[in-house]
Amino acid sequence: MIGTDCVQGGYTPGNGEPRQIPIIQSTTFKYDTSEHMGQLFDLEASGYFYSRLQNPTCDFVAAKIAKLEGGTAAMLTSSGQAANFFAVFNIATAGDHVVSSSTVYGGTFNLFAVTMKKMGVEFTFVSPDCSEEELNAAFRPNTKAVFGETIANPALTVLDIEKFARAAHSHGVPLIIDNTFATPVNCRPIEWGADIVTHSTTKYMDGHGVSVGGCIVDSGKFDWLKNADKFPGLTTPDESYHGITYAEKFGLEGAFITKATAQLMRDFGSTPSPQSAFYLNLGLESLHVRMARHCENGQRVAEFLSKHPKVGWVNYCGLPGDKYHALAEKYLPNGSCGVVSFGVKGGRAAAEAFMKNLRLAAIETHVADARTCCLHPASATHRQMNDEELIAAGVSPDLVRMSCGLEDAEDLIADIAQALDKI
Ligand SMILES: *Cc1c(COP(=O)(O)O)cnc(C)c1O
Repeated sequence: MIGTDCVQGGYTPGNGEPRQIPIIQSTTFKYDTSEHMGQLFDLEASGYFYSRLQNPTCDFVAAKIAKLEGGTAAMLTSSGQAANFFAVFNIATAGDHVVSSSTVYGGTFNLFAVTMKKMGVEFTFVSPDCSEEELNAAFRPNTKAVFGETIANPALTVLDIEKFARAAHSHGVPLIIDNTFATPVNCRPIEWGADIVTHSTTKYMDGHGVSVGGCIVDSGKFDWLKNADKFPGLTTPDESYHGITYAEKFGLEGAFITKATAQLMRDFGSTPSPQSAFYLNLGLESLHVRMARHCENGQRVAEFLSKHPKVGWVNYCGLPGDKYHALAEKYLPNGSCGVVSFGVKGGRAAAEAFMKNLRLAAIETHVADARTCCLHPASATHRQMNDEELIAAGVSPDLVRMSCGLEDAEDLIADIAQALDKI
């Protein structure tokens, strides 16, 4: 079960071996013959040779996350940004097109709309609430993937994963889901039709504000060869790897992650350090215990805010009146996350005053930490967006994002109450 996999998944020590995942802090690995080394480079034998591509500590932790998500293979990356970039760029390159939910994280929006556009990949952004007709109309002959977030940061929209999976699959392309906020403890997107799952492990998986990181998990379910003409990178020989055809050599279960490792990690090098992977694993060991408390605190804070006269509105899918409550009941039956967004009456100025008055909750560009923190996205993470883009991203100028930590709910509510009283 999920809690057992959080604690023990991915690493099973043999007799007399370290109980905890060892930190293999080594850039390189030693071999007796050049022939053996050559086989590794040709992907003819498996083994480690250089930590930019693969490292045992990182692989143990990736294997745990693959297990948690119900996937067949996974890779760690140095950040969530790198995970989303690799997940998309592994199948969509210059001249290709991707359909994405418009309410994705600001950093992801910028990566897609600005940086990947410069690389020749075009994105069409659709509302997560769009009809199936609108969603299907966004596809083009060169569409290679569909992208969305289970619970969007910071808009807190809940994605109808089955609707997005249906549209992706009817056009012969995979659905990529960023599952950062829900974590596999609260939602396993592969069970609802997602093909690739990504994470910013910086958030709940780490959970202690210790290390930036990311992860990509492959479900092993998407049949690249069945849609071979769309995915030549997986279904035709890779001349930079002696003519290997990933989908043939590594099968459904291994092709996507092997290609991402052999090409993208080799060339871009966004690899985490073994030490960071070790810290991530410490966070994962208690993920199932912490998520329950984050959700309990989020629910209590959201209920308090929703009754407060100085609060204009509250977004939290755990509230019965929330726009996404029905989707949350389907996809997030055990709770969503600890992040609540709301508007303080009086707009941008009132939001800023409220945040200044907080004592326990700190102002941080962060979420999903053991310590409660809050942010005004319009003046921080989303400041590169114009008003139209802000509204499409589900971020109004008065929006405060509060990430409820693991403290006692009574203390959090008392802090919020005194901060509201002062404005
Ligand atoms: C934070 C975040 C990212 C980016 O991750 P980093 O680890 O900061 O690079 C991507 N997606 C979501 C949903 C996030 O919350």
